[in-house]
Amino acid sequence: MLFKDFCEYLKLLEKTTERLRMVSILANLFREMSPEEIQKATYLLLGELYPDWMGLPELGVAEKMCLEALSRASGLSKTELEKLLKQTGDIGEAAERIAQRKKLTALITQQLTVSSVYDSLIKIAMATGPGSQDVKIRILTGLFLSASPIEARYIARIVLGTTRLGIQEMTILDGLAQAFFGTKEKRPVIEEAFNKYPDIGYIALITAKEGEGGLRKIKAQPGVPIRPMLAERLSDPKEILDKVGGEALAEYKYDGERAQIHKKNGKVVIFSRRLENITEQYPDVQKAILEAIQADSFIVEGEIVCVDPDTDELRPFQELMHRKRKYDIVRAMQEYPTKVFLFDCLFLDGQELLDKPYPERRKILESITKITDSVQLTKAKIVKSPADLEEFMMQAVEDGCEGIIVKSIRSDAVYEAGARGWRWIKYKRDYKSEMIDTIDLVVVGAFYGKGRRSGTYGALLCASYNPEQDVFETVCKVGSGFTDTQLAELPKIFAPYVTKQKPPNLHVSEAMEPDVWIYPRIVMEVLGAEITLSPVHTCGKDLIKKNFNKEAGLAVRFPRFINWRLDKGPTDATTTKEIYEMYLQQLKKVQT
Ligand code: ATP
Repeated sequence: MLFKDFCEYLKLLEKTTERLRMVSILANLFREMSPEEIQKATYLLLGELYPDWMGLPELGVAEKMCLEALSRASGLSKTELEKLLKQTGDIGEAAERIAQRKKLTALITQQLTVSSVYDSLIKIAMATGPGSQDVKIRILTGLFLSASPIEARYIARIVLGTTRLGIQEMTILDGLAQAFFGTKEKRPVIEEAFNKYPDIGYIALITAKEGEGGLRKIKAQPGVPIRPMLAERLSDPKEILDKVGGEALAEYKYDGERAQIHKKNGKVVIFSRRLENITEQYPDVQKAILEAIQADSFIVEGEIVCVDPDTDELRPFQELMHRKRKYDIVRAMQEYPTKVFLFDCLFLDGQELLDKPYPERRKILESITKITDSVQLTKAKIVKSPADLEEFMMQAVEDGCEGIIVKSIRSDAVYEAGARGWRWIKYKRDYKSEMIDTIDLVVVGAFYGKGRRSGTYGALLCASYNPEQDVFETVCKVGSGFTDTQLAELPKIFAPYVTKQKPPNLHVSEAMEPDVWIYPRIVMEVLGAEITLSPVHTCGKDLIKKNFNKEAGLAVRFPRFINWRLDKGPTDATTTKEIYEMYLQQLKKVQT
């Protein structure tokens, strides 16, 4: 497909806010492409070149480099270009105008295609080391020289990562389902494969090339992270036990970082909850796992927890942040040592174990793990009554944990990759406080501060994620809980995500429009007093309308910033449905 035709699709998608319409535009686009082109196009639609977890280099193009390339291609001076950029406020628009105004100097000899542009971008990314800046600028100049105005616009945006179509992976999967299976209702077939092999391009390729048969053949494998299974939450021990069939395995819920640990060809790789390769942060865990698990190839899951080097007591999650600073790893390993508590085994020596019931997987895990000081299994106990469960919960909190996770041990207790289901239920200490739990919200806007806060933001507009519609819905404005230093840093933290227009996949009412729109990227943990109905927030509006017949959304009252959740991406934020369920539980509590 010609790149200019792809750009027309991008333009159309940019203007579309209705999700169903977006899905059918994507389906049309995919129908017009070859499988190999679809693969490349899906990455470009998400603003990436390949999945993060592959650990390959990013484009590495800064605004200055892009301006240099535009200058070389158009013959305009950098001062003129900077002026134009100021006027338009968007590099894409600036590039488009340059291409219109002053025809780019070279004669266009070859038309750009989706594949040729993608391949050039790969070359830009792969140029690393000394002299690489110049190589990148030269390739980019070549692209601009061959670009029509609309192509220049999207090339500039793609290389600077500002495409911002508001499309997430699930919308692409819907588009693929509609294109190749005739209906988006077939998304689960594609999603199941994607959960085991989260490479959107590869999944798109197989869908287009081999259909359902090909997708069903996709298996989990070491080296490729599996999308993690997640827990539902409840606050009543009896209800928890009823949900899992009266008997379950309760485990400590450690307050650390989730780690999916893979071994292949003698090497250990660690992936985070967001599927990022975090091996470099934990050389100690890597070594400890090699010693503790003898098998040739495996995927196990556990929680990495920071421990006090003097007392061996568990330390809170925040202390793991010291591991995020690359240059200090050796020191961090001494000052903030870790232990890993394993709880699952998803693959062993050539065999995928996702469909085996949990007790079987845990038995396999036990059989391959030699317990050492730094590699242990999660503390676990079979519970059969609410009293058992309460007692175990108290013990967990006493031992420095957040609470417990109650896991189904029935024969259907498979590992549900990528899903938040009732086979795992978390019961956290915070449930005892007024609001059931902290929630993780994504920042979508900011309000300017006044008085002592002038010059920075006074409050952040936060949203939940609604995966059914692939949109973000506002739920509160958070202005308290920040230290002075954190407050001062807010504009800097959000600068890369500030956008002139409302993010396309955000539902917001007029009354809540912020001073500054922020593209959904950064997630923060928030605690509030309670959840209430709200005339101005959009979270759960459809659910409230359907079940209570009221025109209202849900809001968190008196929200307070607790922490950044850098381990979560925007679609990992607490979902609208979860907030709705918390609201229902709260109502139930008031009634009893
Ligand atoms: P939270 O913010 O409460 O950690 P989450 O959205 O990250 O929630 P959930 O699925 O809701 O994830 O809760 C399960 C999380 O608890 C896992 O992602 C994992 O990091 C952590 N965890 C700690 N101990 C265990 C355990 N024994 N079994 C499974 N997960 C555990």
